Amino acid sequence: MSKVTFPRMGESWRTFKMLLEDLGNEVVVPPRPSKKTLDLGVRHSPEFACFPLKILTGTYLETIEMGADTIVTSGGMGPCRAGEYAMLHHKILKDLGHDMKMIVFELPRYYPFNFIKNVWTLNKSRVCIRGIISRIKRAWRKLQALDNAEKLSHVVRPREINRGATTRVYHKILDWIDQAYTTEQIIEAEAAALEAMRNIPQDHTREVLKVGIIGEIYVLLEPASNLEMEETLGNLGVEVERSMFLTGWTRDNTWTETTQGMTVKEAAAPYLPELIGGHGRDSIGNTILFAKRGFDGMVQLAPFTCIPEIVARTILPRVSRDYDIPILTFFLDEQTGKAGMSTRLEAFTELMRRKKLLLKKKNVAQKNIYIA
Ligand code: SF4
Repeated sequence: MSKVTFPRMGESWRTFKMLLEDLGNEVVVPPRPSKKTLDLGVRHSPEFACFPLKILTGTYLETIEMGADTIVTSGGMGPCRAGEYAMLHHKILKDLGHDMKMIVFELPRYYPFNFIKNVWTLNKSRVCIRGIISRIKRAWRKLQALDNAEKLSHVVRPREINRGATTRVYHKILDWIDQAYTTEQIIEAEAAALEAMRNIPQDHTREVLKVGIIGEIYVLLEPASNLEMEETLGNLGVEVERSMFLTGWTRDNTWTETTQGMTVKEAAAPYLPELIGGHGRDSIGNTILFAKRGFDGMVQLAPFTCIPEIVARTILPRVSRDYDIPILTFFLDEQTGKAGMSTRLEAFTELMRRKKLLLKKKNVAQKNIYIA
């Protein structure tokens, strides 16, 4: 029987593993990207390839060592390199002596037959259509539970009383959700997970900063690729809200565009009316939406050589001025170190705190003048 693997993006692997096994596949779970992954990826990818491509090259080589012979991945469209990933990976791996079978999912709303054909190829147990739909629904519910747990961890971490408590509980509850199989079990596990998270001792009077995270999808979703930046910010007393989760992205890109997706586009339109590929336009639109919601700052995560994020980076200083919101950009590659990133985040947090304090003083002074 063929052994299937897929790109690892955060905790979503738990869902994909369940779904692929449900359809009768033997699954090789991609390991969390590590230094070994990166070394392999950098060694065997073109020098100026995007950072996610390099990590995935390394991941695939690791899964091949573990016996994988089939890769399930996504395609892409629009003017950036995402659409070429699968083909390029196939070529790189073939040159290294691994003729992998690639199953590439394009956006179902543009390529519905590609979706049906691929699902059917992966349906090794020959489950009926109704069975496939119910399995996809169950996997979707698990993905939602995983995303909801992660979102709550972003709210709790900056308020936790005992440093590290959120991360410890979060890792535990991931296993609860992972072990849940039926929809009822998933709903129960999610409820227990959220409850456990809420029960973490917190200081609700603590003043926390709010920061929006924007950027390219892979480096947003895979913490190993952004050096656990969200956790670092949480430990600095910052509540983060990521602009993209896999459930949101899938909802926006699978069948029809959601109102949320359209709102982001509309917000970005005065600065960037064109689709430039990747998530460049979303980075602009989301910054404006976060600023309007009163966020204290933004962090942009961009893979080194990512054209859409480079374009967004050139526009963001204007958005920052117009909406009075500080923005910090990280270009991530194999050279990025955690210590340097933490130092920059500490300085950025300090800047936002001072700005907030100044604004507060100004408002109090204005109020006093008004009262007088
Ligand atoms: S969005 Fe950026 S990182 Fe992703 S494929 Fe396109 S250019 Fe590369």
